[in-house]
Amino acid sequence: MTSIARVAVPIPLHEPFDYRIPESLKDKIRPGIQVLVPFGPTKRHGWVVDLTDHSPHPRLRDIDGIVAQGAEIEAELLDLLRWTADYYLCGIGEVIECALPRPVRTRRVRTVRWVKLTPEGKQVELTREVPEARRKVLEHLRQSATPRQMQRLVDECSVSDSPVKTLARRGLVEIFDALPPEFGTPGCEDNGSSTVLISPSFDPNQQQIDAIEKISSSVSKPEYQTYLLHGVTGSGKTEVYIRCVQRALEMGRGALVLLPEIALTPQAVERFTERLGPVAILHSMLPDSERAVHYERLRQGEVKIALGARSAVFAPVTDLGIIIVDESHESSYKQENSPRYHARDVAVMRAHRLGVPCVLGSATPSMESLENVRRGRFERLRLDERANGRPLATVEVIDRRAEAKSVGGGGLFSIPLIDRIRATLERDEQVLLFLNRRGFARNIHCPRCGFNLRCHQCDIPLTFHKGKSRSQCNYCGEHRPIPSKCPDCQFTGIQQRSPGTERIEDSLNSLFPGVKIDRLDRDTVTSTSRMEAILRRFRDGETQILVGTQMVAKGHDIPGVTLVGVLDADIALGLPDFRSAERTAQLLCQVAGRAGRGESPGHVVLQTKQPEHYALCCASRQDLDGLLDEEDSIRRMLKYPPHGHLARLLCEDEDEKKARESAMSLAEMMKEMNHPEVEILGPAPAPIERLRGRFRQHMLIKSVERGPLREVARAAQAQKPRWASTRITLDIDPQNLL
Ligand code: ADP
Ligand code: ZN
Repeated sequence: MTSIARVAVPIPLHEPFDYRIPESLKDKIRPGIQVLVPFGPTKRHGWVVDLTDHSPHPRLRDIDGIVAQGAEIEAELLDLLRWTADYYLCGIGEVIECALPRPVRTRRVRTVRWVKLTPEGKQVELTREVPEARRKVLEHLRQSATPRQMQRLVDECSVSDSPVKTLARRGLVEIFDALPPEFGTPGCEDNGSSTVLISPSFDPNQQQIDAIEKISSSVSKPEYQTYLLHGVTGSGKTEVYIRCVQRALEMGRGALVLLPEIALTPQAVERFTERLGPVAILHSMLPDSERAVHYERLRQGEVKIALGARSAVFAPVTDLGIIIVDESHESSYKQENSPRYHARDVAVMRAHRLGVPCVLGSATPSMESLENVRRGRFERLRLDERANGRPLATVEVIDRRAEAKSVGGGGLFSIPLIDRIRATLERDEQVLLFLNRRGFARNIHCPRCGFNLRCHQCDIPLTFHKGKSRSQCNYCGEHRPIPSKCPDCQFTGIQQRSPGTERIEDSLNSLFPGVKIDRLDRDTVTSTSRMEAILRRFRDGETQILVGTQMVAKGHDIPGVTLVGVLDADIALGLPDFRSAERTAQLLCQVAGRAGRGESPGHVVLQTKQPEHYALCCASRQDLDGLLDEEDSIRRMLKYPPHGHLARLLCEDEDEKKARESAMSLAEMMKEMNHPEVEILGPAPAPIERLRGRFRQHMLIKSVERGPLREVARAAQAQKPRWASTRITLDIDPQNLL
C-alpha cells in the first residue's frame, strides 16, 4: 500500500519532496497528477512523480489536494522528464517547469461552454410545436455549421440557457467544454483558413524515395532507429520529413517536428501546415497563452502533430510515431540555462524509449552524429544533390594576407568582393553578406598571416591575460608569454584582433550609394514579425543587399540571391572552443547554401587569412566528410567529444577573488577524488571573464567513460562552495564553453 507521494516542486533542487497521501485521496493520487502541497509557510503546485511506502524523513506533511483540471503529465512524458533530470543532474521540478507552458502549469487555460447540433438536431423539423426559445436556438445553430459558444448563443438569441439545456437532454444539441473562441472554433483547427492540402508539383527523386522508404518502414513496424538524414542544403529534406509524418498519420499516430528557434518563421510553418493539415506550434516567441492552447490541443489528441523549437521535444503528442529534428547540428538545441538539456539528445532518447524512429536532418552534421554513424548507432541516409537540379554554388576563397600587408591593412571588403557585388547588383540580383560578430577581440592572432596562438595541451586559441603581457588558456589555465614575433610568418606586430565590424552598413552605403541595404541581427530583430518583415522585403526584391549575422545563415530560401559574401571567415576559428573548426565549417557551408537557390547560379566569396585551414577547405568543397578525418584525430588525441565526455562547472561571483577561490576549492575536491579516468582542467577564467557583473571561472571535467564523470560532477554539485555568494552551474555535455 503506497502512502507517500514524491512531489516535484519547480525549484532548482535535485530531489522531489515527500508528502503523506491523506485517506481521502488514496485512490486518486497517481504519478503525473498535479497537486497542491504545503511548502514552508506557503502552498505550492507540484507534480507527483513517484509513489512509495517509506521516506527517510520522519515528519511528513499531507498533500492538500489535487488541482482540479490540473495539467496531468502522461506516463510516457513523465518518464522522459525523469530521465532528463537524472541525465543532466538537475531537478525534475525544473524540467517540468520547462516542459509545460506557464498557463498550463498554473492552470490558467480556461475553457468555456460550447454548443453544437447533433445529427438529430440538424434534421428535426422545426414545427410550431417546438417552443419559440428552443426553435430560435436551433435556427441560430443551423445558420453556421460550426459549434457556437454558449454565452454568445444565448445572448444572440436573447434566451436563458435553460432551453439549450433542454435541447441537450433531448439529444438535439451537445454541450461541451473547449478552449475559448479566440483560439478558434473547436473541431475546426484551421481557424478559418482552408484545409485543402496541397500536394507538391514534383515527385520525389530516387534518393528521397530511398530515405522515405527506409524511415517509413521503421514508422510502420514501429521500431526505434535514429536516421541521420545527411543532405546538402536544398536537397529536399523537408519533403522527406513530410512524407514520413504522413505515414505516421496514416497509421493513426502523431509526430513531433523540431526546428531551430530561428527557423520557425511563418514561411517554414506554412510549408508543413499546407501539406499536413493542423499542427500545434510551440516556440518561445509565441505568447504564453497561445502556446498553452496548442499544448492542450495536443494533449487532448485534437491535433496530432507538434512543430516547435527546443522545448517542444517535451510536447505531449499522443501516440507519438516519429520524431524529426531538422538542422540537428544547431547548437540552439542546447538550452543555456537550467535545465541544460540538448533537445537533439532528448529526442533520440524519447524515440528510443517509445520504440519509434528519430530523424536527424542536417547538411552539416555534428561530429557527435557522424561518430554515431561510424559506430553503427545511427544509420546515415544521403541526399547528395539539390532537389530541383540546380547546382551548388561555386565557392571562391580570397586570401586576405596580401592586402593585410598593404597600407591601411585592407578594409572589410576585398577588391574582388567589391567587384562581385557591383556586378551582381548590375544584373539586378541580390547579395547576402555575412559577418559573424560573435568573435571577440581577445584572442592572440597575427594580423598578417592569421595565425592563432594556441594552447599546446588543449589546442584552443589562447587569450590575452590581464595586463596583456601574457596569454592564457581558457580550459587549463596555463599561462604563456606572448611572443614578440609571429611564430609562423615572423611578423612583429602580433596583436589583438581589431573589432572594426560595426560600420559595415556605413561602408556599404558609401561604396554603393543609392542601393537599398538592410541588416538582420539580434539588434534589429526582436520578434518574429520584425524578422519576417526584413526577410519579406528581401524576398520581394525591395532590398538589394542584406547584411547579417549567423541568423541569415539558417534555412532561408531567397531565390534572388546569387552572391553570398563571408566577410571574415576566420572569426569563428579564433574562438577559444574545441569545436571552433567544426562550427566554422558548418556555418560556412550553411551560408554558402543560401546562394543560387533560384534560376541563376550562385557564387560564394569567403574572405580569409587562413585559406589552408581544413575548415575552410571543407567549406569551399561544401563537404564535411573531410573535416571529420582532420578533426577526428585531434578530438581522439585530446579525448574531446565524441571521443570523450565533458562537463563544465562554472563559478560566478561579483567578487573576482571569491569566484577564483570557490573554483579552486571545488577543483581540489574533484582532483582529490582521484578517479583515474577523470581529468579536471582548470580552474581558469572563462573566455567571457565577466558577465552581468559577475566574474566567471570554470573547470572542465573530462572522461572517456560517462559513469565516473557523473560521479565527480555530482559530488562537486553537492559540495557547498567556499563562498556562499558564488553561484555554481553544472553543464553536462556543454555546447557553449564561453
Ligand atoms: P533542404 O531542407 O534539404 O534544404 P528543401 O526541403 O528546402 O531542402 O528543398 C529545396 C527545394 O526543392 C524546395 O523548394 C522544394 O520544394 C524543392 N524540392 C524538394 N524535393 C524536390 C523534388 N523531388 N523535385 C523538385 N523539387 C523538389
Ligand atoms: Zn590549455
